[in-house]
Amino acid sequence: MMIMKNYSIWEDLNNNLTCKSISQDMDVDVLIVGGGITGISVLINLMNSKLKTILIEKNKCGLATTSKSTAKITYLQEKIYMNIRNLINEDTASFYLDSQRYATNLLKNLIEKNEIDCDLKKVDSYLFTDLDSNKEKLEEEYKFLKNNKVNVEKVTSVSFDKNCKLALKVSDTYVFHPLKYINYWKNKYKDLIYENSKLTKINKVKDYYECLVNGRIIKTKYVVIASHYPYFLLPFLLPIKSHIETSYIGAKKEDKTQNISAINIDKPTKSLRYHHNYLIYLYNSFKSANIKSVKDNFEELNKIDKFQYMWSNNDIITNDYLPFIGRIKDNLFIATGYNTWGMTNGTLAGEIIKDLILEKENKYIKLFDPNREINLSKIIRFPSDLYSNIKAICKSTKNNVNNNLVINKIIKGQKVLVYKDSKGIEHIVLNKCPHMKCGIVFNEKELIWECLCHGSRFDIDGKCINGPSNLDITFK
Ligand SMILES: Cc1cc2nc3c(=O)[nH]c(=O)nc-3n(C[C@H](O)[C@H](O)[C@H](O)COP(=O)(O)OP(=O)(O)OC[C@H]3O[C@@H](n4cnc5c(N)ncnc54)[C@H](O)[C@@H]3O)c2cc1C
Repeated sequence: MMIMKNYSIWEDLNNNLTCKSISQDMDVDVLIVGGGITGISVLINLMNSKLKTILIEKNKCGLATTSKSTAKITYLQEKIYMNIRNLINEDTASFYLDSQRYATNLLKNLIEKNEIDCDLKKVDSYLFTDLDSNKEKLEEEYKFLKNNKVNVEKVTSVSFDKNCKLALKVSDTYVFHPLKYINYWKNKYKDLIYENSKLTKINKVKDYYECLVNGRIIKTKYVVIASHYPYFLLPFLLPIKSHIETSYIGAKKEDKTQNISAINIDKPTKSLRYHHNYLIYLYNSFKSANIKSVKDNFEELNKIDKFQYMWSNNDIITNDYLPFIGRIKDNLFIATGYNTWGMTNGTLAGEIIKDLILEKENKYIKLFDPNREINLSKIIRFPSDLYSNIKAICKSTKNNVNNNLVINKIIKGQKVLVYKDSKGIEHIVLNKCPHMKCGIVFNEKELIWECLCHGSRFDIDGKCINGPSNLDITFK
């Protein structure tokens, strides 16, 4: 019988190296918080400076959002250019395209120059539709790309989707293995990386920061928050400027591989690529606050095919479709909100933040400024984001037991949820997300607890895997 693995295809990779943890007070110039593609990219970029830099990671590097992505390196990003053009203007859309083409090459060159063994492959990228009604939108995207001197082709038949009505194709894009990439850098800079080291507090003192990590104080001039969800610092980023989106992914072995990467512009979202002869297939993306049943969403994926791996992933979608990369205030920086395009944007963030710290020019600083004004009146989805958030909070506090594997209990006066695993071991967690006190649901496929209001995820015993929560729901 085929055994389904409930984690991403990248996470099958073994990396026995665990870096040391923070166990004493330290004095550095730059503290980077988070060991995904963003934090690692900032670290790489600062290696040629004289600044004493360290990176802390609360778990193991790469194992959060980065290792659950489909890891395409591409600038064909759904309808993003038309979205930016319609919301802001044509020049901003062109500038974002320029940044993504630049970042695609930046990452590819970094891999080639350092001869990183991470399965980098040049592929044709497709943007496609199965609907006659969406052909016009693709035509618009085509015109925009042509006007911006992209070598793009229109095709009406593709090898990966027999219902395709129209597709755009470009050839200067890539795919890779994100965890092999992260592990290369982790091994190279292991002396500067601290794992199992969690930031819990930042205090500004005169012209430096005191950061509390594992109960120790790291004194630093610059802090870079590359933790994906910087909400414990900026609670109003969500829902005012962004929302969380969850997607469901499967991987299955096929007879042969194809040199392609593709994404549609229809609903439900379909996105695919190959890794050797495994097809990686993303089906359906939802605003997390609108998810009715995690189990049903995996069932939908199951109906498409029998996958050997199945997993889900969250990313932050910004209301103006542009990432937040740069200075928040003083010497505090963030990089997040990649709208599911973090391989390019996370890599670019490394360069932008390095230039900000070293006071060098970088043409993308203004475009991604996290303090930029967002014209909320133009954002149609803003009221609907707010509504679904409030609805999700109310729903989660009323009915938080989502399946019969979990029971609701009160132990020592505290509301808890109890899941008994196949060995009869009870896993007990607090039934409240520390972020905004929403109820928790159980994701029986991946054996994790989730807050569907805002996307926080916790392991089976309540340790926080993904924010916005920065706290655990462990019951002691
Ligand atoms: C379904 C899906 C598919 C995707 N596919 C693609 C794709 O094909 N191409 C593409 O370009 N992008 C893709 N993305 C987007 C991409 O995966 C993300 O944008 C990117 O991985 C974010 O990287 P990050 O380093 O910012 O965050 P993460 O990888 O989440 O890293 C943040 C790290 O910070 C750590 N951390 C958090 N809090 C603390 C703390 N308090 N102290 C210390 N450490 C902390 C976490 O443990 C984590 O390791 C996809 C996203 C989704 C949801």
